[in-house]
Amino acid sequence: MSSPLGRLEVNTSPGRVHPHCVSGVVRRIGLLGGSFDPVHNAHVALACVAVDSLALDELRWVPAGQPWQKARTITPSAHRLAMLALALRGEPRFVLDRCEIDRSGPSYTLDTVRELRQREPATQCYLVVGQDQFANLPTWHGWRELLSLVTLAVAARPGSAMPTAPALQGLSYQVLPLAAMDVSATLIRERRSHGQSIDTLVPPEVARYIEENALYLPDRAPPGS
Ligand code: ATP
Repeated sequence: MSSPLGRLEVNTSPGRVHPHCVSGVVRRIGLLGGSFDPVHNAHVALACVAVDSLALDELRWVPAGQPWQKARTITPSAHRLAMLALALRGEPRFVLDRCEIDRSGPSYTLDTVRELRQREPATQCYLVVGQDQFANLPTWHGWRELLSLVTLAVAARPGSAMPTAPALQGLSYQVLPLAAMDVSATLIRERRSHGQSIDTLVPPEVARYIEENALYLPDRAPPGS
């Protein structure tokens, strides 16, 4: 698959009824959730690998409205959505799904999957995660039920070892062949706050958006204070 960066339009209509649902053909849909604060090149690479190796009809990017596991203040959803829309342009199988932003309360993936299955029953759902989130799964709300509803697909991530938690032993999942990418949103926020370049870490349109909107700069005292 070619790079999705910087081309065409992003599909933002996950709620529509696809003709395949009507004809009974099962569609293969991937879900990639996260804070995306900001979306970065490893997210895009992970999504591309998932689409290809799982033969997905669609990969839905699901930014969290209230990422209940993140202690820090999250960037307003309007910015995170705008950056995602820029990063997703040009790959028609990428869909920006704002269901967790529009839903009140903590963003639970289990609720997202339940809604998806109710709305689109003729769906095989793949949950795409990096290894850090795989290790974290037992802390997720309703994770055992969640895993009964999806096929798990896991990509290696530098800095996170294969989990050894007993609860995760014996779980079946697909391995995504993502080349190691030492990129994280944390690193991007840190580099910005130190005045360092992030140009090699995010798609160019996203870098421009971050610059134009003065995101991730260190807190400054209001002028005149
Ligand atoms: P932060 O640094 O703020 O915690 P993040 O870079 O981990 O953010 P998220 O939005 O939390 O980004 O991640 C969304 C999903 O992408 C998660 O499943 C995460 O494991 C995965 N992911 C993010 N970066 C990588 C990477 N470099 N390699 C593999 N998977 C990744």
